[in-house]
Amino acid sequence: MLQFRLIPVTPFQQNCSLLWCDSSQRAAVVDPGGDVDKIQAAIDETGVIVEKILLTHGHLDHVGATAEMARRFDVPIEGPQREDAFWIQGLPMQAQMFNFPAVEIFEPQRWLEQGDKVTVGEIELEVRHCPGHTPGHVVFYSAQDGLLWAGDVLFQGSIGRTDFPKGDHATLIESIHRELFSLPDETRFIPGHGPMSTIGAERRSNPFVADRYG
Ligand SMILES: [Zn+2]
Repeated sequence: MLQFRLIPVTPFQQNCSLLWCDSSQRAAVVDPGGDVDKIQAAIDETGVIVEKILLTHGHLDHVGATAEMARRFDVPIEGPQREDAFWIQGLPMQAQMFNFPAVEIFEPQRWLEQGDKVTVGEIELEVRHCPGHTPGHVVFYSAQDGLLWAGDVLFQGSIGRTDFPKGDHATLIESIHRELFSLPDETRFIPGHGPMSTIGAERRSNPFVADRYG
């Protein structure tokens, strides 16, 4: 069974998560944006074995600690989709822009595409490509657990920003309708920032994408 724990990191309180399979105790760190010690503390407390890092997109607050964690645990990096390579290459510039400590560039061992599967222990997650906030943004979905890692695509009552390079509002709205709103209403999702919500709640009341506005 899938277990997870949210670990808000960086001044942006990004929802890094520790996701694990409780039969194998194998874990992935999703979006390690920073605050390595906080992430390490959660790993120590749960006693899980980190086997990979999963990334939704290349923004600093989601990936800032990736190189350091990959080295510390000697594990591969999976995601995002290749179109976000320019964000990862631009990490030093992002750090300067947001007044973060210097961060290292890295190269994922595996770029992800629509329909790919990623595994964590015995758990399998489906990859859905959701461009708009960034061009290579992916989300991770477990049909069995009715759970989605939505990154900065959809939030409780809001949607991702699209005013960054290669961001596009219409593309984001399309991604949400095609890849997220096609999931069951009861699907719970972990957004990149803020509280969890469900797909159904956002379809009913999200002022940017609710059904009545579509
Ligand atoms: Zn972002």
